[in-house]
Amino acid sequence: MSDGIAGSVLVFNAGSSSLKYQLVHPESGEVTAEGIAERIGDHGGSITHSQGGLEVTEQIELPDHTAAIRRVMELFADGGIDLAAAGLSAVGHRVVHGGRSFFRPTLITTEVISEIDRISTLAPLHNPANLTGIQAARELLPDVPSVAVFDTAFFHSLPEAAATYAIDRGVAKLHAIRRYGFHGTSHEYVSGKVPGLLGKPAGEVNQIVLHLGNGASASAIAGGAPIDTSMGMTPLEGLVMGTRSGDIDPGAVLHLHRVVKLGADQIDTLLNKNSGLKGLCGDNDFRSVTEKLAAGDASAKLAYDVYIHRLRRYIGAYMIELGRVDAITFTAGVGENATTVRADSLAGLENYGIVIDPDRNAVRSRQPRKISTDDSTVAVFVVPTNEELAIAQQAAEVVAA
Ligand code: ADP
Repeated sequence: MSDGIAGSVLVFNAGSSSLKYQLVHPESGEVTAEGIAERIGDHGGSITHSQGGLEVTEQIELPDHTAAIRRVMELFADGGIDLAAAGLSAVGHRVVHGGRSFFRPTLITTEVISEIDRISTLAPLHNPANLTGIQAARELLPDVPSVAVFDTAFFHSLPEAAATYAIDRGVAKLHAIRRYGFHGTSHEYVSGKVPGLLGKPAGEVNQIVLHLGNGASASAIAGGAPIDTSMGMTPLEGLVMGTRSGDIDPGAVLHLHRVVKLGADQIDTLLNKNSGLKGLCGDNDFRSVTEKLAAGDASAKLAYDVYIHRLRRYIGAYMIELGRVDAITFTAGVGENATTVRADSLAGLENYGIVIDPDRNAVRSRQPRKISTDDSTVAVFVVPTNEELAIAQQAAEVVAA
């Protein structure tokens, strides 16, 4: 049973209390199994595991990531796959922050672990969690090489003008305060599909990618190289997200601290977990927002309007930065599914050569597709993202090199 999966990559996305995983073949894209372990390090843990068309959910205490991965390996074994002996080419780990140190997928060594640990100050909630997944994989699958794929890597070459905050240079340099950008794996994967859809060489394509999921970010890409992106030093900047505020005047943050007397952790929770769509209308899931909107709920209407307003602001900015735009592409949960978001964010832009075809926009599909009219000078696409496959492909390339 394990023979067919030789060369596959086990992709890990370890959060502070969760572990998402997928066993995928980097060439065929075939997914053999996937799942999620939740409430790691807490009471009431669970694992949902899908393999061979069967999905099982079990309640199990998971004291740490090593315990979670050990149990996941047993679930694989129950389905007939011995991960240690299956001939996996790599374990590919999503790592959120690569700082200035990492800008390509990197084979994990003890030195690499130390460096990821060192830059954890830039992503205190994410990098330590990613590292626990890396350590556990190295312990439990010692013969399979581990590769880190960084969320910031694609944006490493952002022009200085786009990456620099206008604050004291000395302070910025000393504390590594600059714009790094995130969701890079998705922006790279999705933007990489667009030249093929346009029938043009990648070097000649100017494009905007809108990754709209729970987290959301926009990017402007000229000839394959990103020239701007909406997330900054952390994944908090930019678009309105499920629970994150996106752009906010730093003066408001100071006010919350000085006048409202909120501490750093309280402000962090407010802006990261209780803002965005959730802060505006009580729901972070876009489907719930849409249902409330249809029922005439005023707070959902405001949430939707703020979401679209911010999105249009970024689209406009990136059109000017790029000068000429060949394509605008929607991806991730909201971008791939919410026809109204696509229509409203590009409504009334006929003078800029952007015209959506309502029938094409209404099509539901898992395939990349064009939703603009044939006359639209700017092509508008929906391209489903696949971060796990992208991580698997990059990890396999590192191991093969
Ligand atoms: P992430 O990977 O950032 O957790 P996803 O890319 O899975 O997020 O996107 C999740 C978002 O996509 C949720 O807000 C969800 O409501 C939204 N979404 C999923 N399906 C639909 C749909 N059919 N219509 C509108 N929104 C959808």
